Amino acid sequence: MTKQDQFDVIIVGGSYAGLSAAMSLGRSLRKVLVIDSGKPCNEQTPYSHNFLTQDGKTPKEISKIAKEQVRDYDTLQFHDGLATEGKKTENGFEITTEKGEKFGAKKLIFATGIIDDVPKIKGFSECWGISLIHCPYCHGYEYKGKKTGIIANGERAFHISSLVNNLTDDLTILTRGKADFTEEQFQKLRQHNIDIIETEIDEIQHQNGNIETLILSDGKKLNFDAVYGAFLFKQHSDIPDSLGCEFTEHGHIKIDNKQNTTVPGVYACGDNSCAMRSVANAVYTGNLTGAMVNMDLTNEDF
Ligand SMILES: Cc1cc2nc3c(=O)[nH]c(=O)nc-3n(C[C@H](O)[C@H](O)[C@H](O)COP(=O)(O)OP(=O)(O)OC[C@H]3O[C@@H](n4cnc5c(N)ncnc54)[C@H](O)[C@@H]3O)c2cc1C
Repeated sequence: MTKQDQFDVIIVGGSYAGLSAAMSLGRSLRKVLVIDSGKPCNEQTPYSHNFLTQDGKTPKEISKIAKEQVRDYDTLQFHDGLATEGKKTENGFEITTEKGEKFGAKKLIFATGIIDDVPKIKGFSECWGISLIHCPYCHGYEYKGKKTGIIANGERAFHISSLVNNLTDDLTILTRGKADFTEEQFQKLRQHNIDIIETEIDEIQHQNGNIETLILSDGKKLNFDAVYGAFLFKQHSDIPDSLGCEFTEHGHIKIDNKQNTTVPGVYACGDNSCAMRSVANAVYTGNLTGAMVNMDLTNEDF
């Protein structure tokens, strides 16, 4: 590895969280490499909402502006590709890419996001992020007053229905198996006229991702304008795990209030370490991480 391949900080993941961290560090004249494989979780969604100044823009438009602004900082470098390995070295860390390139840094930031473990229902992936919604704050307003389904069960379904109930009074929960609610939850759902259907879904019929009909395994057809889904997820990158980072019971990278993971010198920001999933939160936590990493580097050097 040459001196040119040595950085103060490597940021793995160059979407909203990673670029935001890069901006703080670029403005602090830190030598930074951002490695990004270009697969943000929201890439299929036609319009991104609830991020001040960019409401209703496409996800690509937002990241294009972000990249243009971040690229103006001279000490930042960008590498398009997948980081596949990370290891601790005497002076910090080494990251290897899928092409075998090696880069070193004193500090590592993971801004790698998560991958939704969506069900294998015919038509599901084509609608994901369009009329199949993960979050009421991001896309619920656009479907206010509409006929709405929720594909989820138990606590997740109860939580989403309580939020969406404020946006529409035509709500059905599709549990795809025996409904798993407490008696108190059943009562609340009944009180708000929220239907529960336990039958498995065989197919989602749609026009260009816009849901029209759900076909159930008993042949029944149900029309919806929008359907929410709440699913488990996995980390987009397994490098934090291989470096020894600990995870929460829900699968997020464990961090403290300064974005430190449980491995000294390794930080995380954005969706990979936080349940509040939004562009605004990714930008905020990235911004905070950049400042915290700069502070740690400053304290070590000054
Ligand atoms: C369908 C959908 C719609 C959404 N709509 C909205 C919305 O309208 N408004 C809103 O505020 N939020 C929305 N969100 C949430 C928002 O998109 C996320 O909170 C945000 O993208 C998180 O940013 P991030 O930088 O943490 O992760 P991501 O944006 O997911 O980016 C992670 C980046 O890391 C890269 N990466 C991962 N592993 C590696 C590796 N090993 N090497 C190199 N690169 C790697 C990926 O390729 C990707 O570019 C939506 C989410 C989904 C799933």
